[in-house]
Amino acid sequence: MKAVFDHSNDEASNIKTFWFRPLGHLDYVAGQYTELYLPHDHPDRRGEKHWFTLSSAPCHELVSITTKYAGDDQSSTFKKTLLGLEPRAGVQLAEAMGDFVLPKDTAIPLVFVAGGIGITPFHAMLEWMASQSDHRNLKFIYSVRNENEIIFQDTFERAGIHATIVVGEPSDAWGGERGRLSAEMILGLTHPTPETLIYMSGPEPLVEALEKDMHAQGIAKQQLVSDFFPGYLGV
Ligand SMILES: Cc1cc2nc3c(=O)[nH]c(=O)nc-3n(C[C@H](O)[C@H](O)[C@H](O)COP(=O)(O)OP(=O)(O)OC[C@H]3O[C@@H](n4cnc5c(N)ncnc54)[C@H](O)[C@@H]3O)c2cc1C
Repeated sequence: MKAVFDHSNDEASNIKTFWFRPLGHLDYVAGQYTELYLPHDHPDRRGEKHWFTLSSAPCHELVSITTKYAGDDQSSTFKKTLLGLEPRAGVQLAEAMGDFVLPKDTAIPLVFVAGGIGITPFHAMLEWMASQSDHRNLKFIYSVRNENEIIFQDTFERAGIHATIVVGEPSDAWGGERGRLSAEMILGLTHPTPETLIYMSGPEPLVEALEKDMHAQGIAKQQLVSDFFPGYLGV
């Protein structure tokens, strides 16, 4: 579907949200992803199309994606093009897809685990829940490399959700949880029951390692719902 770039806003010094106006109705459920096609001259090996979770919720007129910029030296030509979009520039968005979405049964207890930019589908879900006054039994762990990369805290507050934030490389001033995310840490902080669904989203190597770690800690496969972001090495 054709869409036009509307505006962007900074979430952190290296993380931005880009808003688009679809030229038609983009039907999606909070947590789903799309493919953004940005034609540009001399694309590198990473290409002109990238998958992105829709970080917005369907209650908004515009749709958004939120992404990290690795700096001029390391960024793909795609990300550089995205950063340079002028308002009203035309782009293409694929139909939304994916089943990393909230369960229909609102009674199911949930644990959300976000690694860095893997926060995007949870942001969409929390925005949606806040807009629908949908209150659930939900525990939320959000891991970041450093405090500067913590984003979307206003959305957590609007949804009435407390996020336990785990910082990998914290400053001395950080008073919260610190260290590397592990299944042991997540289970110790959230105490899931066998009915709990544990949603994990983030860079592929992190989510793959956590899945293995969760199985080793006795968590059943059907309790895990995972969303993998390739293209990033770590949080
Ligand atoms: C279902 C799904 C949902 C996704 N949702 C999101 C989302 O919400 N937000 C988001 O940001 N991403 C998301 N992604 C990942 C996204 O598609 C990109 O892979 C990711 O943003 C990295 O983009 P990039 O390749 O342009 O790398 P950049 O962001 O430009 O760079 C990322 C880092 O990787 C290094 N790197 C990786 N590959 C190479 C390479 N070939 N050459 C040189 N350096 C490299 C860079 O040095 C840099 O440090 C999603 C992916 C999937 C499959």
